[in-house]
Amino acid sequence: MDFDDTPEEAAFRAEARTWLAANAVAKGDSGDFSTGYFSGEMTTAAYVERCRWWQGCLHAAGWAGISWPRQFGGRGAKPIEEAIFAEEQARFGVSVGAFAVAIGMVGPTLMQHGTPDQQARWLAPMLRGEEVWCQLFSEPEAGSDLASLRTRAVRDGGEFVVDGQKVWTSNAQHSEWGILLARTDPASGAHAGITAFAVRMDGPGVDVRPLRQLNGEAHFNEVFLDGVRIAADQVLGEVDEGWKVARATLSNERVAIAGGSGVSDPERLRALARELGVHHDAVFRQRFAQIHISNELLRYLKLRTRTAMSKGARPGPEASIMKLSYSRYVKALGDLALSMQGARGQLEHPDASADGVWQQKFLNAVQTSIGGGTDEIQRNIIGERVLGLPRDAR
Ligand SMILES: Cc1cc2nc3c(=O)[nH]c(=O)nc-3n(C[C@H](O)[C@H](O)[C@H](O)COP(=O)(O)OP(=O)(O)OC[C@H]3O[C@@H](n4cnc5c(N)ncnc54)[C@H](O)[C@@H]3O)c2cc1C
Repeated sequence: MDFDDTPEEAAFRAEARTWLAANAVAKGDSGDFSTGYFSGEMTTAAYVERCRWWQGCLHAAGWAGISWPRQFGGRGAKPIEEAIFAEEQARFGVSVGAFAVAIGMVGPTLMQHGTPDQQARWLAPMLRGEEVWCQLFSEPEAGSDLASLRTRAVRDGGEFVVDGQKVWTSNAQHSEWGILLARTDPASGAHAGITAFAVRMDGPGVDVRPLRQLNGEAHFNEVFLDGVRIAADQVLGEVDEGWKVARATLSNERVAIAGGSGVSDPERLRALARELGVHHDAVFRQRFAQIHISNELLRYLKLRTRTAMSKGARPGPEASIMKLSYSRYVKALGDLALSMQGARGQLEHPDASADGVWQQKFLNAVQTSIGGGTDEIQRNIIGERVLGLPRDAR
């Protein structure tokens, strides 16, 4: 892996930077929606709409699906260029967070497992910012042990009829489509007999109920599926072979979650330290140095993964290393930002420093170590597949 940009990469970075400077919202502007945290009038619904708008802008200018092949509507560039663009974009007040499931997870899975018709139907609208997807995997009794899921899909002629319940479904209330796992063969073992489907979220029998969380927002939902009919041509991969599809999606999810690490976080933390007058404090400086090191390590891990993907490798256990490192990093970041503020750390936007963004980061840090597979599960994967330790008791 080479840490410096090649001449082509440097030219690509310069082109991206120029375009972003001319088109993106500046960081800290009144229209800045990059953090995904909401103050004043900004709601989750408004955030998703802003993401749709920005994704549309990216597409119109040829910056959507940078590493996707041209045949799928992408730019046909390398994953490393995708990482460069994400790095540059993180300096601006914009986000495509609402497309994390669609473009970060479902898109690559469709390219790997979808039929040509499915690829033609679904890939372009997500790149254009028109269709948001959600992930209908977790259930009340199936999270870490996803293979114990109980939602059933029963074949009925050219359709499947689905009954069951999902939970923690991010953005289900704003999504057009969901990628769904359901059991099609109850007699088979845990990983066998599961099928992956694409399901319309506004169709009959789909009941989405938002769950209110710690910070007052309703980011995720319970989804009840009651006699939902799905056409057989919306099966992703083979019937009863959905576990392969799920594994591809989950690996892409880990890369996507950790890939969201904000390069500008340390800069913004330093600005907060200056504002609070603690930037000469020795303890702060030491903890800040750790944050900076973790952020750099994450950047290198990301580059390493992207370099491997550029050479045709699929994300493996390194996705778990990135995800675990990222969840530890965001926890340390939130802890430091709040402890710097002392008693003022209890304030909320708009009374708090930086409009309460750090309070939101602190509260949201918990979710990073759960969503996309908990820290313990990532440790199990690293232990088994990287360190060669004995398998976890299952
Ligand atoms: C912000 C957020 C967004 C999410 N979005 C989605 C979404 O869009 N779609 C979706 O399908 N799901 C989503 N999830 C759900 C997420 O995937 C699950 O919460 C996660 O997989 C853990 O499952 P669980 O909550 O059932 O916890 P459990 O699996 O019940 O785990 C409980 C505890 O036991 C530990 N544990 C479990 N098994 C082991 C083991 N073998 N070894 C060691 N420790 C273990 C876990 O680490 C955890 O601490 C989201 C979660 C969050 C927090």
